Amino acid sequence: MTAVPPSPSAPPSPEAASGPGAARPLALRARRVLDVRAGRTIADGVVVCRGDRIEQVGGPPPADAELLDLGDRTLMPGLIDTHTHVLLQGNRTREAYAHQILREDPAHRVVRAVRSLGIALAHGFTTLRDLGTEGCGYADVAIRDAVSEGVVPGPRLLVAGPAIGRTGSYPILGYRSDWRFPVGVAECEGEEGCRSEVRRAVARGVDWIKVYATQGRGLHVTDDGYLDAPPPWTQAELDALVDEAHRQGLRVAAHASEATGTDMAVSAGADTIEHGYSIRPATASAMAERGIALVPTLLVAREVSAHRAAERGAPWTEVPAIHRRSVENCRQAGVPIVCGTDAGGFEWEDVNQAEELRILVDLGWSPLEAIRSATLLAARLLDREGRIGELTAGAAADLAACPGDPLEDIDRILDVDAVVRAGRVVVAPPAGPPRPAG
Ligand SMILES: [Zn+2]
Repeated sequence: MTAVPPSPSAPPSPEAASGPGAARPLALRARRVLDVRAGRTIADGVVVCRGDRIEQVGGPPPADAELLDLGDRTLMPGLIDTHTHVLLQGNRTREAYAHQILREDPAHRVVRAVRSLGIALAHGFTTLRDLGTEGCGYADVAIRDAVSEGVVPGPRLLVAGPAIGRTGSYPILGYRSDWRFPVGVAECEGEEGCRSEVRRAVARGVDWIKVYATQGRGLHVTDDGYLDAPPPWTQAELDALVDEAHRQGLRVAAHASEATGTDMAVSAGADTIEHGYSIRPATASAMAERGIALVPTLLVAREVSAHRAAERGAPWTEVPAIHRRSVENCRQAGVPIVCGTDAGGFEWEDVNQAEELRILVDLGWSPLEAIRSATLLAARLLDREGRIGELTAGAAADLAACPGDPLEDIDRILDVDAVVRAGRVVVAPPAGPPRPAG
């Protein structure tokens, strides 16, 4: 991470950006402006932002505009990561996780979360769906609200509060039975218990419900080469949880790593499958039919699975190959595959979230397909198509720019060095010509 997080003295407040004193439009000119919908770049394009919205794309800028010339860069919509944990700082080992849950005061974790927001912005991510506070209650709701008030700079946040897990199925586990510890999820059981937990989350102001549809205990490889384990919930419990969320107008993200729990989550009508380590072709077809998206989190799989394999041995050693097959099954079936990294599962400071896009290209995707997974498709998943994830009049003025052309070389997207959030420049491009590739 070389970029400097934005100064707290210039918060990207949507309110401030659209208030008096911010009436002068901001015009950004770049050698290439990426139209993700059309799948092409516009040469020497101009994007005009007024307040926190994009006012026009192309055409001459208004006479009173403040002009920012980005030179030989590609200007694109701000990126969207649909699976993060701003309150986690790496989860490679059980010890790293337990340290954060048991020893760190929530206030300490919140301050680090603010740093995570700056890192995400510096990497060009202007919207995050944050899926679970892991022992930090509803701190994400408070962080989301503080960002939207302009107290601290940060990406737009959609939050889930504590993920919901079945009683006794989620760490902290394995200590003395007469001790009580904080755990990483909100625990519940029974159909009515599941409905109550969803109602509690709704009352606290979450945007999404996250459920652990699988738990990993008893993990094994099946005869047909997929991963499975006994599921934590009954089908009736999972059905009740998803039904209650939908009745309350919220959608459900299901952590689903093993085949049986994944099938149950799909059958219950969960809206997204997170990780998807074990998806057979028939499950992928059912997901496509129901419009259920896959968020494959390939980056955390790469970053953490090696540690997990070393810590736990087989069958974790087989997970990467099975995961890749599952993602391919979804691709063949036409399932929307959306960028989500599980940042926070790995250290925010060490790994650029945009590497998820490079992994997709390594799996045979075109750079454009990879970028769409973090823009257009992610906006659709978040029910914000046309409002974020594309450069179009009326959309949010959330933009990122990188030197060179990421449609030619996806690695350039790791070099984002200019970011606008809600119409404010939060990462200013360095003086001089952009850094060359390599
Ligand atoms: Zn996660």
